[in-house]
Amino acid sequence: MIRARPAVTVSLTEAQGLVLADDVVARLSLPVFDNSAMDGYAVRAEDTSGATPEHPVVLPVAEDIPAGRTDELTLRPGTAHRIMTGAPVPAGATAIVPVEATDGGVQSVTIRQHCEPGRHIRRAGEDVAAGTTVLRNGQPVTPPVLGLASALGLAELTVIPRQRVLVISTGSELVAPGHPLRPGQIYESNSIMLAAAVRDAGGIVVATATAGDDVAEFGAVLDRYAAEADLIITSGGVSAGAYEVVKDAFGRDGDRGVEFVKVAMQPGMPQGIGRVAGTPIVTLPGNPVSALVSFEVFLRPALRRAMGLPNPERPHRAAILTESLTSPRGKRQFRRAILDSSKGGVDTVISYGPPASHHLRWLASANGLLDIPEDVEQVSAGTQLQVWDLS
Ligand code: AMP
Ligand code: MG
Repeated sequence: MIRARPAVTVSLTEAQGLVLADDVVARLSLPVFDNSAMDGYAVRAEDTSGATPEHPVVLPVAEDIPAGRTDELTLRPGTAHRIMTGAPVPAGATAIVPVEATDGGVQSVTIRQHCEPGRHIRRAGEDVAAGTTVLRNGQPVTPPVLGLASALGLAELTVIPRQRVLVISTGSELVAPGHPLRPGQIYESNSIMLAAAVRDAGGIVVATATAGDDVAEFGAVLDRYAAEADLIITSGGVSAGAYEVVKDAFGRDGDRGVEFVKVAMQPGMPQGIGRVAGTPIVTLPGNPVSALVSFEVFLRPALRRAMGLPNPERPHRAAILTESLTSPRGKRQFRRAILDSSKGGVDTVISYGPPASHHLRWLASANGLLDIPEDVEQVSAGTQLQVWDLS
């Protein structure tokens, strides 16, 4: 349902963390030119023939070549050029004598070691030959990928862009943090949490907005931002009660683009899915734990897939439960958990806090979600279960 956006060409900095939408063919060789691998002296190897500490060879130093010197030099037989690491090797030189094997002279140099042809010269193209495909479509843009692109002179890369997500919280009881609470009000926590989860999944947040339980107000938020988004996520207003603004806005029988369903999971049973003017919308339940677990189960993998990112699913680890638990019949239960991989060998897991969908504190300090299959009602200590690694 969530589709990849067309590829875009962006600056290297913007490309970080995305995946390449094209192969990259080197237009340049690396190294670009033959250059010195050492600080030392460029020589003709045969001019150092027989040099030893007891019988050194002395050569006049005709040039000084720091890195970045751009004029083209030629080494005359029987002379040396002082040269620094990364500087171009002059025509006619066949080896570099490291400064450590010399007296470091400036006018003339005393060389105490014989040097083989080719020593300490980094050859043009030995890393990358121009015309080689060095990076592949689908490859994640990591720091070394950016380094290679820059070394090849590229200022931009073509990537699959980030998904743009609109996050809307609903509820007339909600107050933005930082403002005083009146009786019956609570602080709004889903939009900041879901927006952070979107960014953590690699997406960008077009806007976060809060609407009261009022269809017109909710509709106004959609009208204002929906066109900029590739995905709309709402929280709240999809349960079985009255004043369910999201259900009311789209109609409860699925005839206005959004279908409301009950999913056999806990937390996160009431869900909705559909489109608003062509843009996918997923309507999550309002309880904060339900909202975040639903995001983990349904949206994080889908967003990452649409961006072509690696590891769309959280890593699943098999771990031994160190307590006995019960789980509701017919529902796949995700319990906040502490996964312990420190013991070496077998990972263990213990649930963390009650399964209730409003206990946010435990989720904040859990490092895993314990995945209890829907046909399981009792799990005894020592059972192996799957844990989603959130760390
Ligand atoms: P709802 O799904 O709208 O019936 O909300 C279920 C529960 O989650 C209620 O206790 C709401 O107050 C709470 N809730 C809904 N949205 C939010 C939110 N954005 N931040 C914090 N709590 C919320
Ligand atoms: Mg509500």
